[in-house]
Order: sequence, then structure tokens, then C-alpha cells
Amino acid sequence: MESLGQFLRKTERRFAVGGIGDSRIEADLVWMTTLEVDRAELYARMADSPSDAETQSAEKLIQRRLRHEPTAYLLGHREFYNIDLLVGVGALIPRPDTEVLVEEALRIAADFPLDITIADIGCGTGAIGLAIAANLPSARVYATDLYPAALHLAHRNTERLGLAERVAILEGDLLAPLPRPVDIITSNLPYVESSEIPTLDPEIRLYEPREALDGGDDGLDLIRRFLVAVPPFLNPSGVLLMEMDPRQIARASAFALGVMPRATIRIIQDLTRRDRVLVVEMPA
Ligand code: GLN
Repeated sequence: MESLGQFLRKTERRFAVGGIGDSRIEADLVWMTTLEVDRAELYARMADSPSDAETQSAEKLIQRRLRHEPTAYLLGHREFYNIDLLVGVGALIPRPDTEVLVEEALRIAADFPLDITIADIGCGTGAIGLAIAANLPSARVYATDLYPAALHLAHRNTERLGLAERVAILEGDLLAPLPRPVDIITSNLPYVESSEIPTLDPEIRLYEPREALDGGDDGLDLIRRFLVAVPPFLNPSGVLLMEMDPRQIARASAFALGVMPRATIRIIQDLTRRDRVLVVEMPA
């Protein structure tokens, strides 16, 4: 009988040969998921032999990962900010870059009255709106999306985090489903230029939803359509925060000022110090 330790080393080698980075960590994750244990428990069981059923289910995960399916889809969940989110095919996997947007939104929200209202547009798994709601106990959050798979995940995440009383998941195009103007609007719309899609990592290109990535010829198709629609949905002193590609921020700022001439623009950098979040502040 082969030991878990031997299986782990074999899995690590297969990942390394198959071009999967962080092969050691990824091998651990496959076996932690299969055996439903944390890392400490995994290492404590090194000398044990997995059952045939366990070996078979690990093998399925290994093959999926070797085909470059993202680890988060294999595990079925992902940490984002300080919450755990269910993830799956049909919604973008929440990324660390977006945590910067959440942090800034929470900082801004602290200056508003307690009954602040927030809308996250194109919510996917619900990551942004749910992280804000979880950290702002009196906020009311609306999260919209057009796609059934995303809406389904956002609903499940809302329930799972116990936030259903304060977070409404709404189906529809961009801001259209909002029942009223809000204090803060957040959004991570698709912003990748269509011609760049084929250059993305296979994990993204082959598995994550194109409708969450593809922003058209210059990446700003949806962003422009969205910006034009924003003004009637922002309260006085309202703030809009949008994640985008660092190369787009100048063009997007100019466009935002065209639509909201009295607004003030700020730019927030991501963890690698690249311009990542456009902040548009409306006058009182
Ligand atoms: N940051 C994403 C990427 O890795 C793009 C997300 C988006 O288009 N909103 O490609």
C-alpha cells in the first residue's frame, strides 16, 4: 500500500511536469480537499494509506488541475477580504486586487451615516458587496448581475454568510434593477481588451466566464455604458469605485468627468502599486 506521503510527492511531480506552478502547495490542496482535512492534519497522516475511493477522487481533481482548471473551482471556495466565498464556473474568481477596492469603500463608508446604502454592479459571486456588508453591520447592500450562474452563487454566498437581511441580489443589466439611488456604487466590470483574451493564462482563458472579462475593443465598452447610467443612481456626496486595468484609468477618468463634470477623481493603487481603482466623488 502506498502512503499518503508517497501520493503527495507523486502528485507534486505530476503538477511540476504538467506546468502547474506552486506544485507542492497545489498537491497539498488536492489531498486536503479529498481527505477533508487541514494542512496540519494532512501532515499528521503522512504514513497512512488513503482508501481506493480517496485515491480515485484525488485523481479526478489532479486531472482537472492538469487541464488548467483553476484551483478555486476545484476547491469550490476562495477567501476574499475576510470572508469565505463559494466559487464556480460562471462567475469570476475573486482576486486580491479587488480587495483594495473593498478596503477603500469601507474607509469611505465610515464617513457616511450608519444607514448607508451600497450597490455592487456585476456582482459575480457577490464578493465586493458581501465583503462590504460583512464589515459594515448597518449597511444595506444591493448586488446586481445579468447571468444566472453568478446570481445563483451570489444568493448562496449571501445565505451562507448570514447576510440575507441586508443584501439583496437583483437580476438585470448593470444599474437597471436598483430600486433607488445609493451612497456608494462599486463595480468590477469586464475590462480586458478582446484582443488580449487569447494571451491570458489558460486558467482564466479556458475556464473563467468570458462575459466577466471581455470589455470589447478597448476594454471600456461596458464601463462607458455603465458610467453614462450612474449619475441618477448616486446620492449627493455619493462615491463610485471601479476596478480597471491600470492602462485604462486615464481614459476612463476623462470619460467619467465628461458624464459627471462636478465630480472629483482619485486613483487607488493595487498591491503591486499599479493604478487599479478609479474613485469618483460627487459633490454634496
Ligand atoms: N483582473 C482580471 C484578470 O485577471 C480581469 C477582471 C475584469 O475584467 N474585471 O484578467
